[in-house]
Amino acid sequence: MNLVDGVKKGDPLSVSRAISAVENGAPEGRELLDALASLVGRAVRIGVTGPPGVGKSTAIDALVQVLRSKAERVGVIAVDPTSPFTGGALLGDRIRMGKSTEDPGVFMRSMATRGTTGGLSRATQDAADVLDASGVARVLIETVGVGQSEIEIARATDVTIVILTPESGDGIQAMKSGIMEIADLVLINKADRMGADNLERDLRGAFDLRPNRRGKDIPILHSEAFRGKGIPELLAAIDTYVAEKRQDGSFERRRAENMVRRLRGLAEYMIERDLWREDGAAGRLESLAAEVLNHSRSSYQAAELLVREALGGR
Ligand code: GDP
Repeated sequence: MNLVDGVKKGDPLSVSRAISAVENGAPEGRELLDALASLVGRAVRIGVTGPPGVGKSTAIDALVQVLRSKAERVGVIAVDPTSPFTGGALLGDRIRMGKSTEDPGVFMRSMATRGTTGGLSRATQDAADVLDASGVARVLIETVGVGQSEIEIARATDVTIVILTPESGDGIQAMKSGIMEIADLVLINKADRMGADNLERDLRGAFDLRPNRRGKDIPILHSEAFRGKGIPELLAAIDTYVAEKRQDGSFERRRAENMVRRLRGLAEYMIERDLWREDGAAGRLESLAAEVLNHSRSSYQAAELLVREALGGR
């Protein structure tokens, strides 16, 4: 079975190999994505973000259980900058999500930071495309909501869930960090601890202070993810959100906006990649530098020539 057919059939090993190929940026990965393009776009992409330790993976695991009880196939991508796993790790690489990984209806994958943040975002989107093409109904994308790039990755989805806890000043931190800007749903996890209602009130108060009271309608849910409490309600809230947004057209609008951002990033990546190829600008750098130093050209003329020679014929 070739890789494209394997992915189309949802064969776990093929999906895993395909994700490795796209993650490595190998030509094979690019060909795969071309071949799968017509199958991409069916899965709902759900970003899950929040500070470390709030219970993101616990909540995702619980959500996966609920989805599996409805026989829904699901893909999970954990974008973990601290992950010791490299892109080549096989299915089941998330040991702490152990419950779900034995199940062939669940695909899980960790993405380690590799090189640039643009690279991570690209790899995440590409992996989500593979999962989407494999026929899962949803792709969950977990990021640690601290760095701007992780926030951006969580935003490049159909719906974004921000998870906070009543403890450790998460709420105030979240408001400051910009993470609340991307929240479509807020989940206050560890509601078994003191202060969940206070946090909800603080968040509502903060939304009220915004211009136009933007965000005042954002659903705020409570959960105790480690015992699955509140997770069916989270799923219901996600489904309601998606249904409403499909109805009023903003679902497709958001997809279009996300795609514009994605293509912009890809185009920039391609330009840079082609610019610095050995047979392109990289091979000309030293000779042009010498020409500037011996006054044959200005630095701008030399840089312009680099660009024109490397990219001009495209
Ligand atoms: P992540 O870093 O956001 O993915 O957080 P984890 O899912 O790894 O959870 C961090 C810790 O919080 C773990 O020890 C979980 O068992 C615990 N935890 C998760 N959900 C709850 C909850 O609802 N209440 C309490 N008290 N602890 C929880």
